[in-house]
Amino acid sequence: MIQQAEKILQQYYGYPSFRPGQKEAISHVLQGKNTLAVMPTGGGKSLCYQIPGLTLHGTAIIISPLISLMKDQVDALHAYGIAATYINSSLSVDEQHQRLRDMEMGRYSFVYVAPERFDSPNFLSALKSITLSLIAFDEAHCISQWGHDFRPSYRSIVPTLKEIPNLPVLMALTATATQEVIKDIKELIHVEDTSVVNTGFARDNLSFRIIKGRDKREFINEYLTQIPNESGIIYTATRKDADQLHYLLSKKGVAAGKYHAGMTEHQRKQAQMDFVQDEVTTMIATNAFGMGIDKSNVRFVIHYSMPMNIESYYQEAGRAGRDGEPGDCVLLFSSQDINLQRFLIDQSPNEEKKKEEYLKLQAMVNYCHTHSCLQQYILDYFDDPTETEPCGKCTNCTHDGEERDMTKEAQMVLSCVKRMGERFGTGLTAKVLKGSSDQKVKQFRFQNLSTYGIMPNYTEKELTGFIQFLTAEGYLSTGDGRYPALKLTKEAVSVIKGDQPVVMLVESTTKKQKIDYNEE
Ligand code: ADP
Ligand code: ZN
Repeated sequence: MIQQAEKILQQYYGYPSFRPGQKEAISHVLQGKNTLAVMPTGGGKSLCYQIPGLTLHGTAIIISPLISLMKDQVDALHAYGIAATYINSSLSVDEQHQRLRDMEMGRYSFVYVAPERFDSPNFLSALKSITLSLIAFDEAHCISQWGHDFRPSYRSIVPTLKEIPNLPVLMALTATATQEVIKDIKELIHVEDTSVVNTGFARDNLSFRIIKGRDKREFINEYLTQIPNESGIIYTATRKDADQLHYLLSKKGVAAGKYHAGMTEHQRKQAQMDFVQDEVTTMIATNAFGMGIDKSNVRFVIHYSMPMNIESYYQEAGRAGRDGEPGDCVLLFSSQDINLQRFLIDQSPNEEKKKEEYLKLQAMVNYCHTHSCLQQYILDYFDDPTETEPCGKCTNCTHDGEERDMTKEAQMVLSCVKRMGERFGTGLTAKVLKGSSDQKVKQFRFQNLSTYGIMPNYTEKELTGFIQFLTAEGYLSTGDGRYPALKLTKEAVSVIKGDQPVVMLVESTTKKQKIDYNEE
């Protein structure tokens, strides 16, 4: 049967070969085994259920939370001459009934539905009366409470499935599943270990870059001039930023669209269409834009400010390069971004949630300060099980500076944190190391500490940057409070004891033996 699948790939879709994981997932399904496929965005998950759907007899039901995407998926199948439809609340009741009747007549190879459809007795009785080829859960992480986008309606499908006597093989597909979520999905829909296909989250075609200390608008101007005809998204943290940037770029003659929740539904739809159909090349948007937008030729995603957590960042940046061609993911960092995100988190009334959000924010800040490979940092954050090499493309991998042993300096900083009682943040620690006569330093009598003023040759800004680096590399942790208090980690203890060196990348052009980093 897998030969037949290969033939369909070439004849219907015109692709010469399978992408990683596709063949495995398809062959499990064809053998009647419930299957979980974890593949990155753009990895080609749709084919994993479409090809078995075409190979096996009967109708395939595809469950998707993204109503806005169903039409696109169905249109794409129509273009291949495949009978497909969707049944959801965007249709009139009459139209829904008509499509349901057609489904009962076995007229469709594929029917896309939202999870809520399984609450409808009519739909269920139709399901029971036809031959089903498979049932696929797209965006399957929505099934799990541990997922970042839990939908109770998704989970409640599972008991309903027991009522279906002619239950076919089940499939779950997702691009974002932690080990917890994978375990949950496996148990819920009975997937054996051997039928889990996990190609990891790595998006090899994306290059991650962090830009610090540049005028953000100037950077964007230059960037867009260099690639005037490429499609891309610029994410801003606020509507105001989106409005202003849109105004400025339009004035400069950039064909830019705008999208945020302050616009009318009509305006947003129009903006989205203009972008998808390449009427405008650059979309300036808040995070309201993107969910359910299927545009494969996005060449760059620029973040005008740092987002709140790595989950959002990877999801938004990941909208670049869905066609497998190179995608450039640029984050423009300034330290004010952190304050804005803290402020946004503070709006939450839920104290537990706040703590969690602060921790996630700190991981995002660490991403901006780490000297390790950015791709690896992200994969580690998601506990990606696959071993990967440094990407060779991110700002840290391509940094042309030199490595410098900073062990002695690190020991000074870490001892100072210890002596200050592990109760204070980056700013005050930098002041103590510098030997500042700041009011707060005096208030806590830190001028009496042996570490007071032991790093006088650095500016406070440089010291702040160095402490942020030590935090990003895991020597210091900041806890989950509103005001991050620096604490030593296990690694810090080995550094203080002299068991572990600290190496940092510095610009090779620096004149003095100084930490050089270009913080704003
Ligand atoms: P996902 O749902 O995993 O994000 P899609 O199923 O939308 O990804 O696939 C992304 C793109 O890759 C689509 O344009 C699809 O046609 C294309 N694609 C999928 N499989 C292959 C393949 N084996 N060879 C070439 N292109 C493929
Ligand atoms: Zn890298």
